[in-house]
Amino acid sequence: LAKGNGKGGWQRYQSDLHTAMMQRLEMRTALHEAIEEEQFVLQFQPIVELVDQRITGVEALVRWQHPAKGLLGPFHFVEAAEESGAIVEIGAWVLVEALRQFTQWKTENPETTLRYVSVNVSARQFRGTDFAAQVRAALTETGARAEWLLLEITESLVLKDADKVLDELKALRAMGVRIAIDDFGTGYSSLSYLRQMPVDVLKLDKSFIDDILHSRQQHALVDAIVTLSHNLDLAVVAEGIEEAGQRAALDAMGCQYGQGYHFARPLWPGDIPALAVQPEPYPVRQQAVV
Ligand code: C2E
Ligand code: MG
Ligand code: MG
Ligand code: MG
Repeated sequence: LAKGNGKGGWQRYQSDLHTAMMQRLEMRTALHEAIEEEQFVLQFQPIVELVDQRITGVEALVRWQHPAKGLLGPFHFVEAAEESGAIVEIGAWVLVEALRQFTQWKTENPETTLRYVSVNVSARQFRGTDFAAQVRAALTETGARAEWLLLEITESLVLKDADKVLDELKALRAMGVRIAIDDFGTGYSSLSYLRQMPVDVLKLDKSFIDDILHSRQQHALVDAIVTLSHNLDLAVVAEGIEEAGQRAALDAMGCQYGQGYHFARPLWPGDIPALAVQPEPYPVRQQAVV
């Protein structure tokens, strides 16, 4: 307790509180300026078919190109953006920018293996204005097709505010937009509960994947989730695959999709089109370079 901190503890406590409040205020202002100065940028991480590592989709991941601190990942600002409400504006930008970029890839190369772009949605975006209407407007503005969009939401969002969220999800699905549960396994929802929700894809959290090669129990658990998901007509994406052995194990379980550093890190938009080309029907062995 602050009181027990000896002489001046209380004052220090008060000034810490003040500092924290000032920092929050500064952060809010900074985030607001960042939106106006267009300092947010997107990277895209491939999502692949485990059987042949072909890119099937990309996840849009936001970064802050900070004028003084350099490129900042979401860890540095997403929580603060959620608390201050700035995430609503940032999220709206992410949605349009991801769809704009994806539409460009699809139009410039109709042969691309890319089928969808995945966009993270924060609970605040659902709670505010009519989210389904916002998505519809973003699709119209960018010329993107609804089938190209996969929205990633979290278990906690589905569990809270269930009725309002359910209506929004149904409206989105009726438009042809698909819904994924992100970080599945870190929350408290069950698969049978999720099946009653309008959800198409489960993204199995990295913490479930980490130990599958070293823990028989973890392997069995993931195997069971994959089987049950498929029986419930849910597609599964395994997150955070870092080793070839994990890819092989998940493929053997019948898990169809994966994402992780083993395949690719989040990349700048310019690097995506070259990866998303139809692979040769039979791998052509490269001539040895001497
Ligand atoms: P997420 O949606 O679960 O995204 C996956 C995160 O795991 C990304 O981190 C990605 O770089 C990282 N990752 C992917 N493969 C691997 C791997 O093999 N090993 C490891 N160690 N990490 C891997 P990132 O880009 O730092 O994003 C962190 C989180 O920030 C995201 O987790 C998501 O919850 C949030 N986020 C990112 N972009 C947005 C956004 O536009 N809006 C909202 N609301 N949240 C976002
Ligand atoms: Mg995600
Ligand atoms: Mg995730
Ligand atoms: Mg995750």
